[in-house]
Amino acid sequence: MSGVTDAREDHALALDAAPDPASRRDDFLIPPALGGAFPLTAYLAGNSLGLQPRATRAELMADLDAWEQYGVHGHSDADRPWFGYHEALREPAARLVGARPREVVMMNSLTVNLHLLLASFYRPTAIRHRIVIEDYAFSSDSYAVRSHVALRGHDPETAVLRLRPRAGEDTLRTEDVIATLDDHAHSIATVMLGGVNYLTGELLDLPAITAAGHDIGATVGWDLAHAAGNVPLALHDWDVDFAAWCTYKYLNSGPGAVAGAFVHERHLGNHALPRLEGWWSTDPATRFEMRPVSEPPATADAWSLSNPPILAMGPVRTSLELFDAVGMDALRARSLRLTGYLRGLLDPLAEAGILAIVTPADEGRHGAQLSVRVGVDATDLSDRLSTNWGVVADDRRPDIIRVAPAPLYCTFHDCWRAADALSQELTGEGIS
Ligand SMILES: *Cc1c(COP(=O)(O)O)cnc(C)c1O
Repeated sequence: MSGVTDAREDHALALDAAPDPASRRDDFLIPPALGGAFPLTAYLAGNSLGLQPRATRAELMADLDAWEQYGVHGHSDADRPWFGYHEALREPAARLVGARPREVVMMNSLTVNLHLLLASFYRPTAIRHRIVIEDYAFSSDSYAVRSHVALRGHDPETAVLRLRPRAGEDTLRTEDVIATLDDHAHSIATVMLGGVNYLTGELLDLPAITAAGHDIGATVGWDLAHAAGNVPLALHDWDVDFAAWCTYKYLNSGPGAVAGAFVHERHLGNHALPRLEGWWSTDPATRFEMRPVSEPPATADAWSLSNPPILAMGPVRTSLELFDAVGMDALRARSLRLTGYLRGLLDPLAEAGILAIVTPADEGRHGAQLSVRVGVDATDLSDRLSTNWGVVADDRRPDIIRVAPAPLYCTFHDCWRAADALSQELTGEGIS
């Protein structure tokens, strides 16, 4: 955004009055506000837990009804037979992350999928045994890679290489990431980074870093927890080896919902690549023959283990239909407008030194989330935003507030309320 953003509330309302097919607010249930002048929350925590689509309840009930009506025969006789239920999720999930359908499977939870993929794609040798992550990676990712390193007999203290921003900076520069890979070219086995970092909201240059990882002979995987449903992705074309993501953040599929996994086509059907296996790793055509040795299909399903939790799959299917209806490009366009507007409202507070926006300003380097360093206790501030203003953001100790206008259901007025409430709490005055 250029120039000064019009900070009047009327302006926000006028922006919302213009029709935008990527706004699907009416398709969502917005929680009531705990305080403030408006009945509903300004919900800016969709990066943490997305809101419930209106359609989800009925779809979930239909799956419960099938269980009631068919018992075990639901595997074959339900309207959406359970045996192939996950097939309905494959194509929309593939479109969402820019994959071929056979490269994706919806299964398990995010961290479990990271483990299953690391089991195949982290193949350390005595020399090439390092894994690269961000120094401020989500804890689960740190623990996952450390445990894999230890499991293969290496020392996590030396084998996990953590990327740090330059002194005085909060986010990584692509050239520095690539330089680090080059500096340790012979010892890096795997690069596994967050596509959009959970803390800073920075979007990494996935194609450039993937190519740089391949140039040094490493495998490259992405944790897309904060990227899936947030930014357009082209995992197949970018030649990414593997990726995993959860569906309860931008993908609005409910707390702890079933996650996704991607394996690039060129690895599918490669029997030299070891995998952890279960009865869902084998060809569905012969699954019930209970053979002693699996016959894995040449799809990402070869990485699945168990029969899927049907009652948890419906919400994912419902949500993916919504993303399909809108399309990631239209959603991204709306997202950039909302986030740019929010940044414009916060800029004067940043210029006055009251807060600092940690997320990069460049449109190619951020998604829907702005991470704001507030200089006060973030947990306490986040509580006050909710109880005094009905603004739901989320805090990361000690002093970061994350504000994410998820474009499917957030409005310009939500952004205005968030900026106004932050200003009220930090300066005692509103923004207009
Ligand atoms: C949200 C998130 C997780 C959470 O892991 P689960 O296995 O879904 O509990 C892990 N990693 C990142 C980067 C996340 O953002």
